[in-house]
Amino acid sequence: MRRAAETLRRAHPSDILEWGLRTFGQKGIALACSFGVEDVALVDMLHRLDPEVDVFYLDTDLLFPETLETRDRLSERYGKRFIRISPSLTLEEQAQKYGEKLWEKDPNLCCRLRKVEPLARVLTGYRAWITGIRREQSPTRARAEVVEWDEVFGLVKVNPLAFWTTKQVWAYVVENRVPYNPMHDRDYPSIGCMPCTRQVKPGEDPRAGRWPGKAKTECGLHVKPEDESGN
Ligand code: SF4
Repeated sequence: MRRAAETLRRAHPSDILEWGLRTFGQKGIALACSFGVEDVALVDMLHRLDPEVDVFYLDTDLLFPETLETRDRLSERYGKRFIRISPSLTLEEQAQKYGEKLWEKDPNLCCRLRKVEPLARVLTGYRAWITGIRREQSPTRARAEVVEWDEVFGLVKVNPLAFWTTKQVWAYVVENRVPYNPMHDRDYPSIGCMPCTRQVKPGEDPRAGRWPGKAKTECGLHVKPEDESGN
């Protein structure tokens, strides 16, 4: 993986995706999509290469209506069915077992139940997964490679946008008229679940709006074992 990461470092994200498809095959790789700006750019790029590749999303039952509308607009534009992955517990079952508003009391457990475990389940069906993480997004992502071994989930992780800037992502989305979440235009650079996402103020870190008031910065999908500090 290290050699592929070095060779592809300066490649265009589309070329990195093409490498992923060639290496793992159409059925061996899938895009994890949260419908943020990075992911919609990847949906567009992937569609141009192979419209049949699986694209899934983790539906925590707490997504913003705008996120689901973005899914529907992308579906219409690309004729794509996004695979919905849901947690084992409904919100009601979770509240019965762990108490109301688990995200306030124990967000790590809530993320584990509603994101990490469902992701681990779906990834067993693939040899590689594609994500929209970028080095620029946060210190925990600053060492992301375009291709790496994911020790947590035990498969290859392809991050085609690892070296792209926010400006490059937006330029791609605007130029290609890719549908995107309108919340991005209202100071939500990073959009997750409703209870754990707020607008950011001018000058704040783009991910400051995630888990406001808590030390948590990651939901556990992109944490390397050596970080363990907390999409
Ligand atoms: S982001 Fe918040 S609501 Fe969503 S799974 Fe994590 S803790 Fe729960």
